[in-house]
This record gives sequence, C-alpha cells and structure tokens, in this order.
Amino acid sequence: MSVPFLELLPGYQELKAEIDEAISRVLLGGGYVLGSDVDKFERHFADFCGASQAIGVANGLDAIHLALRAMDIGPGDEVIVPSNTYIATWLAVSHCGALPIPVEPDNHTYNLDPDKIEAAINSKTKAILPVHLYGQPAELDPIISIAHKHGLRVLEDAAQAHGATYKDERLGGHGDAVAWSFYPGKNLGAFGDGGAVTTNDPDLAERIRVLRNYGSESKYVNKVKGFNSRLDTIQAAMLGVKLKHLDEWNERRKLLAKRYNKALASADYILSVVPEWAEPAWHLYVIRTSHRKVLQCHLNKAGICTLVHYPIPPHLQQAYADLGYKRGDFPIAEEMADEVLSLPMGPHLSTSDQDRVIKSLLAFKL
Ligand SMILES: *Cc1c(COP(=O)(O)O)cnc(C)c1O
Repeated sequence: MSVPFLELLPGYQELKAEIDEAISRVLLGGGYVLGSDVDKFERHFADFCGASQAIGVANGLDAIHLALRAMDIGPGDEVIVPSNTYIATWLAVSHCGALPIPVEPDNHTYNLDPDKIEAAINSKTKAILPVHLYGQPAELDPIISIAHKHGLRVLEDAAQAHGATYKDERLGGHGDAVAWSFYPGKNLGAFGDGGAVTTNDPDLAERIRVLRNYGSESKYVNKVKGFNSRLDTIQAAMLGVKLKHLDEWNERRKLLAKRYNKALASADYILSVVPEWAEPAWHLYVIRTSHRKVLQCHLNKAGICTLVHYPIPPHLQQAYADLGYKRGDFPIAEEMADEVLSLPMGPHLSTSDQDRVIKSLLAFKL
C-alpha cells in the first residue's frame, strides 16, 4: 500500500450529502452563471477572511491578474514579486503588460524578505506582491509600511494560505487586495477551478467585479475591455459547503505538521522556521536536503509519494528567457528549487500513513 501525496476523493466522500444537495439546488434553481450562490459564497468568504468584500473569479491566476488591472497596473510598470514562487504570481504581472521584479526570500521562512525590498524599488514600481508560500504568512507589517512610504499598492498572493493567521488575524484584509485560488488541491479547493479577491477597498472591488464580467456593470453596457472570469455557480455552492469545514480541516493539517516537526526535529533535514506571529495553514509541509534526489527515490521505494514545489524558479523558466536572467542571479530561490521536498500532507492523511513517512525519513542513510 502506498502513501499518496494528497487525496481529493475522501474530501468529497466526507461531505457528500451536503455537496450533492448544493449541486442539485443550483441545477434546480435554473440559473447557472453568477446569481445568489455566488453572492452568498462571496459574503461568507469575505466574513471568514475579515474583509469587507470578496469577488469570485475563474481561478487564482485571474484573481491576481484582475486585481493588478484594477490597480491600473500596466505596460511600463514594475511589480515586486518573490524569486521563489509558483510561476502564476509572475504570469499575472506579465499578463498586465507590467514587469515582475524578483526579490529573494528569507532563507528560513521562504517568504519575501522585507529587508531586500527597498533596493528593488524605483520610479516605475507600482506594487509589492508577497506570496504566503506553502501556507505560511509573509511578514506583512514591514511590507505594508515600505509600500506606504513609497506610495505603492500591496496585493497578496494567498493561493496557498486559506485560514492562515498573521498576528492572530486571518489573512484576507491586510493588503489593498488579496488573491485566492480554489484549485482542487488548495486548502479550500473546489471540484474544478475557482478563485477570488478579497479587499476592504470598495472601489477596487467594484473594478474587479466589472473586469470579471466583460467590463460591464449592467448587461450590454461595457465600461472597459473586460474578461470572462466569473466564479462558476456550482463551484461557489460547493465551496460554501467546504468553507464551513475549513477550520476543522486546517486543524487536522496543523496536527500532522506538529507530528512531523516533533519527529524530524533531531534528524538531518532543514525544516521551515515559523515566526511566533504566524499560524500557517500548512498547505504544504516542506523539508530541505542537499540529497533530495536520493531521498525522494528512497521514499518512493517505500511507496511514499512526494512532490517538489517548485523544481525550476520562474527566472530560469524558458517562458521568462526574454528577461535574460541566468543561474546565479537569485541564489536562494535556486538553492530552494534544488533542495525542497514536500511530504504527504492533507486533511485526510491518516497518522498511521504519516508514521510510515516518518519512519522512512528517519531510516534514510546516504
Ligand atoms: C495555485 C497558485 C496560483 C494559481 O492558482 P490557479 O487557481 O491554479 O490559477 C497562484 N499562486 C500560487 C502561489 C499558487 O499556489
């Protein structure tokens, strides 16, 4: 028997009655785009995040992209992004016609290092885009004060961090806007694609609402050249069911993270450092080792599935060859790409399966 990296089916099975009821309610309601199920989920998710508004969109990439557009970011502008993130963070900036400017993370928390941000700011800089990587909140206070000092916007990529808290407050209402993904494997995952932006700025919220729906506020009247990026109504209804269970499912992740921390504390792996002001959502449990390849093989032979988030940093991807970066330009991101390994983690990972992972990790000898 193998230990999967993440299983999605048990999530459906646990909530089957409620989810099936939500789907058939939408189908029988006869309205299949936007409508009251999207409105209800947006209200519920905004409240959960401590934000005044949530706008449902088609996916996480669009959430970042449309939020940047709503901030009037476009050609000639620069946006500060982490050098070690999923490529979607960079792509959203590029899709606006703006330039992603990479800044290295802190080598212990893996999140944007506030001390390195100011050196990257110039007259073209319009926004800072921190990512709450692996579900761990980035250090928001210094980032937000740097932004205020230089007149910049803050857009957070919280695609991996539903329910995480920064100084005891849930993410979602700190920066000017916060982008979310409901990709199935995320902590709050749909049964397909989905995304949202949360914000306390009613003007930004209105602009994103217009942008997601062809640039129109009322039917067939188009204010701007918008997009079709609406959160699907059936997905919204199912997300409403799952949101009620998110805290409990995050608690299960936290318990597993604590067990990993304890079991691996004296082993030869580098574990991520969690600052005292952070309560991560434990989207991923990531260890580091300079022997990743052999370790991954060793675990694989024991039937344990692991993944690498992410093996190639955006600046070395072919998609960004036009920016002219080379190996050595962002050494922390590159070292992470070579060394990180994500262990099985999720609300339906049993402690007995986790014990097998731990046993195999402790038995690993070079
Ligand atoms: C998943 C993810 C995204 C993109 O979300 P999609 O819904 O897949 O478009 C963006 N940023 C980060 C950090 C992610 O993990």
